[in-house]
Amino acid sequence: MSNTARSWMYDRLDADEYISPIFTNGLKTFIEFACSNQSFMDGDKIKCPCKKCLNRAFQEVEVAKFHLSKFGFIPNYYLWNKHGETSIGSTSFGMDDTHSPFNEHHDPSYSEMVMDVAGYDFIGRTFDEDPNPEDKKFFDMLEAADRELWSGCKKATQLSVAARLLNIKSEYRIHEQCFNAICQSMKDGLPEDNNMVDSLYETKKLIQALGLPVEHIDCCRSGCMLYWRDNKDLDQCKFCEAQRYKSSTNSSKCSRVAYTRMHYLPLTPRLKRLYASQAIVASMRWHAEDHGHDVGVM
Ligand SMILES: [Zn+2]
Ligand SMILES: [Zn+2]
Repeated sequence: MSNTARSWMYDRLDADEYISPIFTNGLKTFIEFACSNQSFMDGDKIKCPCKKCLNRAFQEVEVAKFHLSKFGFIPNYYLWNKHGETSIGSTSFGMDDTHSPFNEHHDPSYSEMVMDVAGYDFIGRTFDEDPNPEDKKFFDMLEAADRELWSGCKKATQLSVAARLLNIKSEYRIHEQCFNAICQSMKDGLPEDNNMVDSLYETKKLIQALGLPVEHIDCCRSGCMLYWRDNKDLDQCKFCEAQRYKSSTNSSKCSRVAYTRMHYLPLTPRLKRLYASQAIVASMRWHAEDHGHDVGVM
């Protein structure tokens, strides 16, 4: 392996000023390498080779990832000697990251999604010694993305389960009470010190705390249409003429309650792209790993 194989280190932003996928992938390799050499670490922390820490300060892995994404690597750090490398690529650690111990169970996509969402505002901003409130929010977000579902759980995080449940809710149109009951029974089945969300309310609070907005859109009781955009002020369905609002003695417009509402998570296009690529990667791996061939499953 030569310097060119590590050109990704200085190929941080793509044409649209977003963190490039090649950098994200490379960064993963670097972090795995850094974490595989305990003698060059300080407990769980690694030396951060970002332009600010200059390989002098030890940082939590997530902080180092954030620094490297935001500030970039110090120039010419092709040989990772401050992290235990003696010549470029000289490592017993496999470079095929699909089989690294770090990817076996843990799906990193959520922290990457958060990184991606937050990345917008962070790139290009000046950085103070103390985390300012926005940085603090970002670290809280990253922490939530990686918060384990229960102590020792490797398969899911609090956020990954919450996001999956919301997805299931919308796919099967589960009622809020049913959703809450599912959360409760899952929670009851987990070890006591779990971080399982216990209701739709908690789930939405978690998602909103991450800075991912949830919008409410009224819809027709029979599912014909959404009261959205041009139709947002209608009082009854254009197709089946069903009333939009429950009848109420209170005539004030803002207190009216719609029969049916949906929760909409407007993801940024960038986030959609990232999520889509993560989902595709997972599907491709499924076949590559040959989990059998279910008829009718793509
Ligand atoms: Zn740093
Ligand atoms: Zn209708």
